Amino acid sequence: MKLVWFRNDLRLADNPALRHACAGDEPVAALFIISPTQWQQHKMAPIRQRFMFAQVNELGRELAALGIPLHLLRVETFAEVPAALADLCRELGVTQLYANQAIEIDELRRDHTVTAALAEQAVSCHWFNGCCVLPPGRVLTGSGEMFKVFTPFSRAWLKALDEDGFVIHRAPTPRGEPLPWQPLAERAWVDEALGELTPDPRWPVGEAEALRRLNIFLERAVVDYGEQRDFPAIAGTSVLSPYLAAGIISPRQCVAALQQRLGYRPQSKAQPGFVWLNELIWREFYRHLLLLIPTLSMNRPFKPETAALPWSWDPDAFAAWCEGRTGYPIVDAAMRCLNTTGWMHNRLRMIVASFLTKDLHIHWRLGEDYFMSRLIDGDLAANNGGWQWAAGTGADAAPYFRVFNPTTQGQRFDPQGEFIRTWVTELADIPAAYVHQPHDWLRLKRRQDYPAPMVDHAIARVRAIEMFRSLEK
Ligand SMILES: Cc1cc2nc3c(=O)[nH]c(=O)nc-3n(C[C@H](O)[C@H](O)[C@H](O)COP(=O)(O)OP(=O)(O)OC[C@H]3O[C@@H](n4cnc5c(N)ncnc54)[C@H](O)[C@@H]3O)c2cc1C
Repeated sequence: MKLVWFRNDLRLADNPALRHACAGDEPVAALFIISPTQWQQHKMAPIRQRFMFAQVNELGRELAALGIPLHLLRVETFAEVPAALADLCRELGVTQLYANQAIEIDELRRDHTVTAALAEQAVSCHWFNGCCVLPPGRVLTGSGEMFKVFTPFSRAWLKALDEDGFVIHRAPTPRGEPLPWQPLAERAWVDEALGELTPDPRWPVGEAEALRRLNIFLERAVVDYGEQRDFPAIAGTSVLSPYLAAGIISPRQCVAALQQRLGYRPQSKAQPGFVWLNELIWREFYRHLLLLIPTLSMNRPFKPETAALPWSWDPDAFAAWCEGRTGYPIVDAAMRCLNTTGWMHNRLRMIVASFLTKDLHIHWRLGEDYFMSRLIDGDLAANNGGWQWAAGTGADAAPYFRVFNPTTQGQRFDPQGEFIRTWVTELADIPAAYVHQPHDWLRLKRRQDYPAPMVDHAIARVRAIEMFRSLEK
């Protein structure tokens, strides 16, 4: 018997571990491991957990239809996984385990221990690259090191892809009679500790849904992506991040569909579609970084010298940021959108992360954790990469004195204030001319329902720069 262990790769199509396990006639079973305490320690957002459960349900139903039973194991932490897996392998007569590699440190350690524990009972483990187009670690400098900045990485990545090419694995064909599938919500091990299991109607699951979104984006928006991707009131990006993070769709499927839509693989900024491909390459960059620099998974900055920065941990200021009460409309709109939907536009992620770290001088780790605890697409590599980029501690060519101005960012990327009015309801009736600096207008109207700016940006900016400059002394 072969066992396929599903993790962040909850799909049938283009799943290398599943595909390789299904080669030959030997019976195949599948497994998903629920570890609620570990997930809590990793700050997994409840909305992400619901999304994942809904997809596991879907996957279990589809696997059952192919004659592959999906087993569910519940343990509290990763530490219990090796023993639980060893027991299951004994019970089912498993001789080979198939899985797609993880890149995060706790997951890597878990997988290491699993390999050793299963070897003791002659079960061999086979690991594949299912999370990236090119395997993390494939794209290195001429001297075999990780790139420290993105642009040369992107160039080297494109060259490596030309050299290696890639295949898309088809979903397996039926392996036996269809099996019954009992929905997750009816299982004996379901209890309150698992939280809400019903799916959020805002975020339908399923591989067909992910492909539908991809195709709509490629049809309607990819060609103008370079011009439209920064405007949160426009549907200019794919909103595929929850599906990529849970592995409902693979990055290879995205690249293949992009190539098919354009008739070529874009290689430079001059070509339509390149800017979107480059975002997928950012995703690969951060995954390379996380694998090759394990300290990133341990709360350490990419630039070691920035560990000495005197960050603030002010709980009141942090709470105002979390709840969208900073008095800066674009920041507040973005945070309220995150708190309600579990998702935030990339431009807004950059603005709010810059505001927390450079205007409030609060440690990026608090922001990183808060994002993780709220995002439906929470992903350690991209989240840590994004936070460290914004905080000035990360892999970024820009100097530390790049500090976003939250007012001019709002004016530039939400010029009419459409996005702000949707989320900051106190400002729903404000004229566009005042929406980014509403306080004069609110005073005239004798309204006090929206907070005053909690900091003066000009002063906060200078302090942020001084904070970094002090490191040079
Ligand atoms: C502070 C901060 C935190 C972030 N946290 C996360 C996170 O937890 N999970 C996450 O998936 N992304 C994160 N990002 C990256 C980015 O904001 C989201 O991937 C993007 O907004 C998702 O929207 P989309 O699917 O419409 O992306 P599109 O613009 O359509 O891009 C396609 C895909 O490329 C990937 N991608 C795009 N931009 C980036 C990027 N800058 N870095 C890495 N991958 C990227 C995503 O998988 C995305 O779905 C973060 C960015 C910042 C600045």
